[in-house]
Amino acid sequence: MTQSGPILGSTRLTEEQVLLREAVRVLADERVAPRAAAIDRDGVFPEDVRQLLAEHDVFAIPFAERHGGLGADLLTLILAIEQLSRACATTGLILAVQALGAIPIQLAGTEEQQDRWLPGLASGEKLIAFGLTEPDAGSDPSGIRTKAVRDGDEYVIDGGKRFISHASVADYVVVFAVTNPEAEKPSRRLSAILVETDRPGFKVARIEHKMGLRGSPTSELAFDGLRVPVANRLGAEGQGFAIAMQTFERSRPGIAAQAVGIAQGALEAAAAYANQRRQFGRPIAELQMIQALLADMDAATEAARHLLYTACEEIEAGNGDAARWAAIAKLVAGDTAMRVATDAVQVFGGYGYIDEYPVERMMRDAKITQLYEGTQQIQRLIVARSLLARS
Ligand SMILES: Cc1cc2nc3c(=O)[nH]c(=O)nc-3n(C[C@H](O)[C@H](O)[C@H](O)COP(=O)(O)OP(=O)(O)OC[C@H]3O[C@@H](n4cnc5c(N)ncnc54)[C@H](O)[C@@H]3O)c2cc1C
Repeated sequence: MTQSGPILGSTRLTEEQVLLREAVRVLADERVAPRAAAIDRDGVFPEDVRQLLAEHDVFAIPFAERHGGLGADLLTLILAIEQLSRACATTGLILAVQALGAIPIQLAGTEEQQDRWLPGLASGEKLIAFGLTEPDAGSDPSGIRTKAVRDGDEYVIDGGKRFISHASVADYVVVFAVTNPEAEKPSRRLSAILVETDRPGFKVARIEHKMGLRGSPTSELAFDGLRVPVANRLGAEGQGFAIAMQTFERSRPGIAAQAVGIAQGALEAAAAYANQRRQFGRPIAELQMIQALLADMDAATEAARHLLYTACEEIEAGNGDAARWAAIAKLVAGDTAMRVATDAVQVFGGYGYIDEYPVERMMRDAKITQLYEGTQQIQRLIVARSLLARS
């Protein structure tokens, strides 16, 4: 499926951003979209797509030039995730999770740690995952039980994680573990530790069977006497919670971009189908109720997109309140993706419900954007907290 007419929302973008978006769009249309249905059906991580992104320097976007990256800003990364997700949400997540896992290193890593780990991530030769969630610690990370106990110049990590995207295919996982159980504030109990997944004591205990994003493996992890050098800790002991929250300020826009991409993909599929499907002797596109559905889908997608781009500019400018901007963008984009994808199925009628067409996959994929990296309820809490603090 190709996007016809002028490229959407170009006025505020730099020439480099427009060019990069166009390059990723072509890659997504020509190489990723034809694979999307099979990736969903097979439920296997698409190694060929990972290689494709590596070959075309897509992984390099959010990394500094000195680490082999393109040195691009947050909005540029978001444009790429959006275009990939428009074709295949699983593929958009490959780029989003690589950025998610790298942010703690970029935020809190020493120069030596950054030089050690970031070049492999920028080239796509290595993959990284982000391990915060546990069975009893989802929305509330203060429930984290995984502990890292110091033993000389190593930590010994015991416990486990739940729902960790790409951990089963990653070379590294940033694990958030309790290093300071006696800390007065719960937010000072955690540290962020980079774990190489080939270490003894690291085990992928299970891979979940999911509603959508089926090519993106989501793993339960078990750590049993897992020894990691203290030199793998990112930032100071007790800084883990702060690192995780700062990471979300830059990673939630990536999920919002995935959501906008899904919405755009569903909208384009629905509009094309409406022009082609005939009932009552004419294309259903001529029916005003179908036109109204499509118009609302278009308006909502464009509104979510521009809110997201504004959020990226605000976050990048460091004007404060990054957590609010990231939460607002994810909240609006996630709800938009769910609604637009559901309405796209409606435009297709019964055909929308079967896997001959892409919109049923898009509807299943859209749901996750309302759940992970903080549910929509948690985004609302963040926005309300910020709003009330200012009033
Ligand atoms: C496919 C997938 C991939 C994921 N990838 C990762 C990953 O890579 N790394 C990682 O660390 N985690 C990952 N997660 C975990 C995800 O971030 C959590 O599932 C999510 O944060 C919600 O936690 P929970 O599932 O435990 O739900 P719970 O926290 O148990 O929430 C249950 C319900 O209660 C509501 N709720 C909870 N607290 C409040 C509150 N204070 N006020 C109002 N409502 C509330 C929630 O909104 C939700 O509706 C992934 C999850 C999935 C499904």
